[in-house]
Amino acid sequence: MTTSLTLDELTAAGAHRTGHFRLSSGLHSGDYLQCALYLADPRRAERAGHLIAGGLRGAGIRPELVVSPALGGVIIGHETARALGAPFLFTERVDGRMTLRRGFAIGPGQRIVVVEDVVTTGKSTREVVAVLEQSGGLVIAMASIVNRSGQDNPFAPIPFIPLLSVAFPTWPPEECPLCREGKPIEKPGSRPV
Ligand code: ZN
Repeated sequence: MTTSLTLDELTAAGAHRTGHFRLSSGLHSGDYLQCALYLADPRRAERAGHLIAGGLRGAGIRPELVVSPALGGVIIGHETARALGAPFLFTERVDGRMTLRRGFAIGPGQRIVVVEDVVTTGKSTREVVAVLEQSGGLVIAMASIVNRSGQDNPFAPIPFIPLLSVAFPTWPPEECPLCREGKPIEKPGSRPV
């Protein structure tokens, strides 16, 4: 597994916090991750893009196109594409359905890498893959800054290159040990970058 970004770097950027959090999914966790705060510094975003591009090259993966889902994946996907010298486009959710951004098309058999900021369950990323395949593309690899899926590769047999894999437990509220300890909960708010 590729590990070329550390949790300490995310923490130093305010992109990883520990405590007791109510996630947007409704689950509770002692860890909160917001990659956007890491990517808020364009130099860090550029470096992460270089690291992902290096990981792909190291695995012998040479895409003709990089695709990311808006909004979360766009910055890192764009930086990865820049480092690879490949074009970049994005998908977006319209009326609940994942779709190619209007005005974009995929060439037949075009070799594509899908880049995400964080892979949690991989569900939305798989929707992106489905859209690209329906459009005639060939998804040859997935990549992300963080893999918090709890699996080495939730996309197998498609290769997956994460910069950092973390195991952050989450619980339904009624099973949360932090609630049982009476630890005050917070819904992660905003902070200056
Ligand atoms: Zn809790």
